[in-house]
Amino acid sequence: MLKIENLHAEIDGKQILKGLSLAVNAGEIHAIMGPNGAGKSTLGYVLAGKPGYEVTDGTLNFLNFDLRDMAPHARAAAGLFLGFQYPVEIPGVSNLQFLREALNAQRKGRGEPPLSGAEFLKIARAQAAALGLDPEMLKRPVNVGFSGGEKKRAEMVQMGIIDPKFAILDETDSGLDIDALRAVGAGINTIMRKPDRAVLLITHYQRLLDYVRPDFVHVLADGRIVRSGGPELALELEREGYKDIAA
Ligand code: ADP
Ligand code: MG
Ligand code: MG
Repeated sequence: MLKIENLHAEIDGKQILKGLSLAVNAGEIHAIMGPNGAGKSTLGYVLAGKPGYEVTDGTLNFLNFDLRDMAPHARAAAGLFLGFQYPVEIPGVSNLQFLREALNAQRKGRGEPPLSGAEFLKIARAQAAALGLDPEMLKRPVNVGFSGGEKKRAEMVQMGIIDPKFAILDETDSGLDIDALRAVGAGINTIMRKPDRAVLLITHYQRLLDYVRPDFVHVLADGRIVRSGGPELALELEREGYKDIAA
């Protein structure tokens, strides 16, 4: 589904990704772990096509697309979803407006007609209820005054509505209490644990992986994947840290 080979990428002239290779098949969940500053968020931004991130070498294939040729909105329409490490606040735009615009832009990209307000509201309320987010919160401006847990639940609602083929979730577990962690983990499993979907789960901590069991765990250090294994690798990292691996 996703094939990255020898990816080199820079921001503001600084080389961050230095020959990263990774292949993800449909139906798989891959966890990416690694020390601070290794380039994990950069990988997410490069995949999503965030302006300012320049790919200087390597290939980026998603389904039958060459991502390097595609604008961010075209990548999203092709089924790529990025959940942010730091969700942005959008004063003056309600969650409902934002989500409806996002979904209808996706549908337009796929040549499908927009949903009516009533159709959309039904989907949005069902997703919020499934994620344990009070549907009333959907009327409030995007993320403004939301707690950390509410932001992440709202992001999962967004993912459920967009229904992407491939999700890159960047530290979705940071700052969550146990209930929110469980809700977010269940959300990821419900929405994305399907034979035709895949997930790249960027995380610092093993605990999210108790809820979302990865098929593969990779260590990203200094811009490359330096080690790969199964779920047991996350447990080993939790015990031993990165010092021997990144060296
Ligand atoms: P991680 O998510 O693994 O903690 P990041 O991908 O966020 O790491 O960052 C990787 C490196 O890129 C860090 O050393 C960071 O300081 C650097 N970096 C990020 N943005 C910029 C920028 N705009 N200019 C220069 N360096 C940057
Ligand atoms: Mg970090
Ligand atoms: Mg990061």
